Amino acid sequence: MSLVTTELISSGATLPMLIGGEWRVSDDSEVKGVTNPATLDLVARISYGGASQAKEACDAASAAFPAWAATSTRGRSDILISTSELIAERAKEIGELLSIETGKALNEAIGEVKFSAEYFKWFAEEIRRPRGEVFALEDPTRRQMTISRPIGVVASLTPWNFPVSIQARKLAPALAAGCSVVARPSEKAPIAVSELFRALVDAGVPDGVVNMIYGPASEQSYALIEHPSLRAISFTGSTPVGSSLMRLASERILRCALELGGDAPFIIFADADLDAAIEGLFIAKFRNNGQSCIAANRVFVEREVFDEVVDRIAKRTSSLRVGDPMSGQPIDIGPLIDQSRVRDVSGMVSEALSKGATFIGDPPIIPDGPNYIRPGFLKDVPMDCRLARDEVFGPVAGVFPFDSELAAIRMANDTEMGLAGYAYSRDSSRIFRIAEGLNVGILGLNHPLPSVAYAPMGGVKRSGLGREGAHLGLEEFMETTYLSIGVS
Ligand code: NAD
Repeated sequence: MSLVTTELISSGATLPMLIGGEWRVSDDSEVKGVTNPATLDLVARISYGGASQAKEACDAASAAFPAWAATSTRGRSDILISTSELIAERAKEIGELLSIETGKALNEAIGEVKFSAEYFKWFAEEIRRPRGEVFALEDPTRRQMTISRPIGVVASLTPWNFPVSIQARKLAPALAAGCSVVARPSEKAPIAVSELFRALVDAGVPDGVVNMIYGPASEQSYALIEHPSLRAISFTGSTPVGSSLMRLASERILRCALELGGDAPFIIFADADLDAAIEGLFIAKFRNNGQSCIAANRVFVEREVFDEVVDRIAKRTSSLRVGDPMSGQPIDIGPLIDQSRVRDVSGMVSEALSKGATFIGDPPIIPDGPNYIRPGFLKDVPMDCRLARDEVFGPVAGVFPFDSELAAIRMANDTEMGLAGYAYSRDSSRIFRIAEGLNVGILGLNHPLPSVAYAPMGGVKRSGLGREGAHLGLEEFMETTYLSIGVS
C-alpha cells in the first residue's frame, strides 16, 4: 500500500496543512525541512505557516463545531471506528515514516501506530455508554440531573517523541466528545502524524472538524489561545512550556490538560524476581531511545542485591544493539532526535563522570553519526548531579543503593515531578505500600509498560494536570450542565 504522504514525499512536493477540509500549502508561508536523525538526510518539506493559519484553522473548527456536536454519538463513533481500521491497515507504512523522522526502532514505530488505532476504537466505544446522573428525590418539587456537553474548539499541541500516539490520545476523545480540533504537531516529527488526519478525512469526518497546522510553536499556540472560539488546550511536552501555556490560558480561563515532564523512579527490592526486574528496567529505560516521559530516570536498588544487579546490568548493556532503524538490522536503540538532545544528555553524563561516577560495564558498539551517544547506566553518581535530579530524556540513568523501603519511597519522592514510577518486589503487601507511598500518577509494578488506551495516564505535581485515556480522558473534553426542573 502506498500512502498519500509517501507519494507526496517521492514527488518532491511540500507536505500540506489541513484547514477547513482542504489540504493546503500556504502561499504566504515558509517551507521547512524535516531530517532523518540517524543520517541527517532531508526526509521531507512541510508547509510552515504562522499565526494567520492558526486563526484560519480555529475559524474553521469553530464553524464546524455546532453540527459535529449535534451529530449522534453513533454517527461520531462510526467515523472513529473507520478511522481506527484505516490506521491499523496502514500501520506498517505509517510506522516506516515515523521511524525515519524520529529514529525509533521500526517495530516500536509500527507498535505506536497500532496503539494509536486503539485510541480511536476505544473512545468510539466509550462515547456510546450512558452519561450524566439523575439525583435522588431530595426535593419532591424538583427533578435534578446532569447532562454532558462537548467543551467546544480544542487545541491539541503535541511533542515529537510519540508524535502519532500522543496526538491520537487527544484527537480520539475530543472528537468522540463532539469537539472540533486544531492540532499542532511538533515541527521535529510532523510527517507520520499527518496520516492520522488523512485517515480521519478518508473515514468521513466533516470539513473543519479536524485541522492540522505546522508552524512556529509559540506564535501559533499563542494565536490559538487568543482566538475567541478556543475553549481548551490539551498539551503534551516539557514542564516549562506547559506552565507558560497555562499562564496564557488563564487570561481566558481555558480548560488545560497538561501532560508534562517525568522523572520516574525504578525501584528494585531484594525480594524481586531479578530476571524480570532487569528485563523491565531495560524496556522502561531504552524504549524510544530513552526519550519517553515515563522512562525509568533514577534506578534505586536495595543494597543487599546492589552488586548483583550492577553485574547483571553490565552483562546486558554491552549486548545492546545501537543503530539506524532503517539499516535493515534489528536495533534496540537508535539516535537521539537532534543535537540539542545530544548536548543535554552528554552534558549530564560529563558532569557525573567529572564528579566520580562511572559507567557500569563496557559500552555496546555505537555507529558513527551525529546523534548517537553511549547508552547505559552509571553508578556512584553524586546526588547533586543533574543526572540524579533532572529528567534525562535519553538512554542513560544513574543507579543508587537504598537500605529500607521507607528510604526508597523517600528517595523516589524527592523530586518536583510525579508522572510515573516502577517497582519490582515479590511481596504483595509491599506492592500496595509502594502504590500508596509513591506520589506519581502512573505505576508499573512488576511491569514495565503501563500505557493502554483504557487506563488513565497523567501526572501529579509539576508533571501535569488531568488524565488521558479511559473515561477520565473523555471528561477533559466535556462540560457538565446541572438541570433543576420544577415539577408541580
Ligand atoms: P517541548 O515542550 O519543547 O515541546 C512540546 C511541543 O511544544 C512541541 O510541539 C513544540 O513545538 C511546542 N513548543 C515548544 N516551545 C513552545 C512554546 N514556547 N510555546 C508553545 N509551544 C511550544 O517538549 P519536547 O522537547 O518536544 O518533549 C520533551 C518533553 O515532553 C519532556 O519533558 C517529556 O517528559 C515531555 N513529555 C511528556 C509526556 C507526557 O505524557 N507527560 C509525553 C511526551 C513528552
